[in-house]
Amino acid sequence: MHGGGVDQDWKVPPVSGPLFKKKMAFQMVNYRARNMHYPGDEKMRGATQTGKKYRGTGNVGMTMATTQESNGMKRAHYDTYVDEKMPRDRHKKPRLCSGNMTLLTEHIRSMENKHKGKCKYCGKFTYMMCTLCGVHVCWKEGSTATNLTCVLQYHDDEYYGIGMEDRNTLFGVPARAYKRPSEREIRENRKYMRELRLKYEAAVDNIN
Ligand SMILES: [Zn+2]
Ligand SMILES: [Zn+2]
Repeated sequence: MHGGGVDQDWKVPPVSGPLFKKKMAFQMVNYRARNMHYPGDEKMRGATQTGKKYRGTGNVGMTMATTQESNGMKRAHYDTYVDEKMPRDRHKKPRLCSGNMTLLTEHIRSMENKHKGKCKYCGKFTYMMCTLCGVHVCWKEGSTATNLTCVLQYHDDEYYGIGMEDRNTLFGVPARAYKRPSEREIRENRKYMRELRLKYEAAVDNIN
């Protein structure tokens, strides 16, 4: 925690270049945290949502960086991670639950046996849905297994970017071409996501 309150925060001398960008990015997180709406926010939101399928230049004319590489694997960009942690729709519960057992419990309790659909994590057919997220996700792997799998991984920050839905929406991998990640890929993704999470938590700490 820094000394001073809001007044001091605003007394920062003008900055430019990368530092300015950093400051702006911080303010983005800041205003989302407070669930405020800026003029033009709806427009931005629309651009981001269509951007889920088309990752390039948003219709507001700015380049939208959404992915980056790590060890030759495409990884989720920090901005899309922040979107998952703090959905722009304030009525939507965040999907990613690391560090928040209460939230995870809410997702698990919302699981219902519905119609058949593809699991958003592994791509196999299942009847189970997380009704909080409104998506299909397996409850157990196989009919005899006792361990929860997809439902936990889908809601786990450390698996963000490697499930079927994420490969599709972030990197354009068709659902039918999806392959489950190897142990090594899971390990590397975990390492990468831990860093994003630390960065995010540090930003949130700075705000509070
Ligand atoms: Zn599954
Ligand atoms: Zn859920």
